[in-house]
Formats: sequence, C-alpha cells, structure tokens
Amino acid sequence: MSDFVPIQSDLNEKPDARGDSGPSVYIRTYGCQMNVSDSQTIESLLADAGYRFADSLDEADVALINTCAVREHAETRALGQLADLSRLKKTKPHAVIGILGCVAQARKREILDAMPFVDLVVGPDAYRKLPALLEERMISPPGSPGLLETVLLREELYDDIVPRHRGGVTAFVTVMRGCDKFCSFCIVPRTRGRERSRPLPSILREVEALVSQGVRDVMLLGQNVDSYRWEGRTFADCLSEVAGIDGLARVRYMTSHPSDISERLLDVMAGNPKICPYLHLPIQAGSDRVLELMNRPYTRAQYLKLVEAARVRLPQIALSTDIIVGFPSETEEDFRQTLDVVREVEYDTAFTFKYSVRPGTKAERLEDDVPEAAKVERLERLIAIQQEISRRRNLAQVGRQTEILIEHEAPKDAGMWTGRTPDYRPAVISKNGERIGDLLPVRLTELVGFTFRAERL
Ligand code: SF4
Repeated sequence: MSDFVPIQSDLNEKPDARGDSGPSVYIRTYGCQMNVSDSQTIESLLADAGYRFADSLDEADVALINTCAVREHAETRALGQLADLSRLKKTKPHAVIGILGCVAQARKREILDAMPFVDLVVGPDAYRKLPALLEERMISPPGSPGLLETVLLREELYDDIVPRHRGGVTAFVTVMRGCDKFCSFCIVPRTRGRERSRPLPSILREVEALVSQGVRDVMLLGQNVDSYRWEGRTFADCLSEVAGIDGLARVRYMTSHPSDISERLLDVMAGNPKICPYLHLPIQAGSDRVLELMNRPYTRAQYLKLVEAARVRLPQIALSTDIIVGFPSETEEDFRQTLDVVREVEYDTAFTFKYSVRPGTKAERLEDDVPEAAKVERLERLIAIQQEISRRRNLAQVGRQTEILIEHEAPKDAGMWTGRTPDYRPAVISKNGERIGDLLPVRLTELVGFTFRAERL
C-alpha cells in the first residue's frame, strides 16, 4: 500500500500515432499517478523508436500492461487482464505481450513460469531497454522463453525523456522516484528502489514545455515529495519555482509524508495563490501502537498538530488521506482511534483499504490475524462515517465564491464545461464563450452527487 491515490488508465484513448508504418502498441496502466506518468515516459521512448499507438488491444502488435503491486486487488486485476491478453496470441501469433511496473519487479520469473505466453517482464527502472527488448523479441522464433529485465538502478530518473503529453490542460510531472521509508506494509521501496530526486532545472524545463503545449495545471509527483533534495534545494523550493512559471495557472502535488512535511512547505503554499490548497496526507491508522507496527514514525498527536498547522495557514485547505483497516493485531480499540481521527480531522476525501499481505514486505512476518469479517465490517463503518463527513463538507461549500479552471466539455452535456476549484472539487457551468484552460470566477450554487453546479460572477 503506498501513499498514492489509486487510478486505472487507458493511455490509448486518444492515439496520436507518429507515422503509420511502425508496429502498434497498446498500453494499459494500473495503479497510482506515478504509473500513469511512467507509461507516458514509455510512450515517449517507443514513439522515438517508431512505434504507433493502437486504441484497442485487437489492433495492437504489442500489448503492455503497466502493473501495480501496492494492493492485492490491483495486482489481481492486472494479472487477470494479462491472462486475458493470451487471446491476442491466438489471432496474432507474433504479437508481443509485456508486463511492466511493480508486479513485474516483485514477481519476476514467477510470471514467466506461470504465463508462458508473456514475452517480456520489465521493471520500473529498465524502461530504456524496452525498444531493444521488443526488437529482440520480434525476431525471436515463436515459443522462445520470455525476456526478463528488472535491474533496479539507483541513478535512473528518466530525466532526459519528455513524457508524451496527450493533450488537455492538466499533466503529471515526476520530481523524484523511489522511496526510503520502508513502511512495513508497502512493497514500493523494493519495486521502485531508493529515493532520488530530479535536478530542479529539468523539472522546470518540462513544466515550461507542457505550458507551451497548453497545460495550465500540473501535479508534481513523488512517493514522498517532502524528501526531495537537489543541490541543497528542498521540495518547498521546487514547488515555489514551478509556481513561478508564466502561463501556469495551478500547481499541486502528491504525496506528502507526515514525518517529513515541513512548516516551510505550508508557508510556501499559503504564500502563493497558484499553489492549490490541497494536501494528501496519509495517516494509515489512528492508533500509535499500529503506526509503530506500520513503521510510520509519527504519533497521532503529531499528525493532528500538523493538520492544525496546515489549517491555520490555509483555512480553505482540502485534506485527503489513506487509511488501512485490519492491519495485523488491530483491535476494536485501535480501530476506534482511527475513527476518532477521521471525525476530528474531517477529511474531504479518504482512500480506504482493507489490509492484505504483500509478499516481500516486513509486515508479511506478522500474523494476518484480523478476521476477514471484522476487516469488512470496519471498512464499511469507516466508509459510512467518511461519506457523511465528505457530504457535509461539500454542502458547506454551496454559496461559496471561488474560481474554476475549465478542463473540458461536460461528458453528457455539450452546453456545459467541467472544471475544478483550487481545492479540487469538480464543478459544471454553462458555456458562455470561454475556452478550455480559462480560469473563471464563480459561485457554487448546488451540489449534485459529488459535483457542484456553478454560476459565473
Ligand atoms: S512512504 Fe514509501 S514505503 Fe511508505 S507507503 Fe508511501 S511509498 Fe510505501
């Protein structure tokens, strides 16, 4: 389980093939924003090698699944999809099937042994080798054993590769890779390696290039952005310099670690209106005893102090978190302490998970002794409480004056725009001559589900 918001993405939705003669590739991405960003880096590498992008599996010569090992559910889904891909081989015996990302890194040879139709297994630090591996595979006789490339490279940052931007006004920019935290439940340090930060000038160059392509809102990504260090500069410096780029309307980031986030970072956020008042601050558990077992080096009291420090500086800040229920030995009393934190902090959003053992983690050595029924029941209670809080906090926004960044046309109504407030709440508004990427002063007038209706001011 990493401190990241889980998503699933089909990066082939809007193919923009370079040329029409090279082999076509289809990439499906599971997991966090970092995986989406990695897939864009892979696309850039493959486009330079002459590949086209297919918008469906059936059209593809190469199918790549970028996997997530953070939760059992995500891993099972990715591997299920992979098993599904074996049908591609039936219609196209020369098609190449590859598994990338954290599951590739964590399961390595096990995948090749269990799924002989898989041609490539490539870990997160070996993507530069993909074009050569694909080429080698394409000329191998059918039935050759799959290729494995999962070396972890401390220095790999893909810093010289501009990820392929697929249009739109929002973009992810990776500022650091890896993690040194070794939370006991999390496989990320073993699949993505140790922390390393990108040079600040190259981050700024990438954001400037994105802005020149019409991007207005960037999310800076790192497993633990607060550990960013480059030539004495910290993440607060990085954030501040990115926010200074002309033409960029908004910058946000993900993810912070409660032990590392600095008051200076909060000050920088408070002092710059381009930096969104949004903070994803995973607590994982409300009991100090469980936090210690999780190797999360903060207490509940320290966490609450941090929340207070953020709210004093940024009263409008939206807070989200990650919570695991049913960690080994979690008692009803431990769980109640988690609920107490949720009620006290009143998060805008919480990403909640049932604990599942991740092979290769330290927690694997602990007995997974919370019965499944108790995990389910605790998760349901937690979700019910959080939903009520989220709804209440959203309703309190009705009537508020704010500003939305217009992101795209509303999916079901060509007469409406969809945008987001600075604190990341979705809102729709009728069109009136604006363009995508405009910032529009509005009043939020109504809440429908989780989306606001807005009127221009
Ligand atoms: S801080 Fe690192 S080890 Fe801990 S959950 Fe996040 S990615 Fe995993």
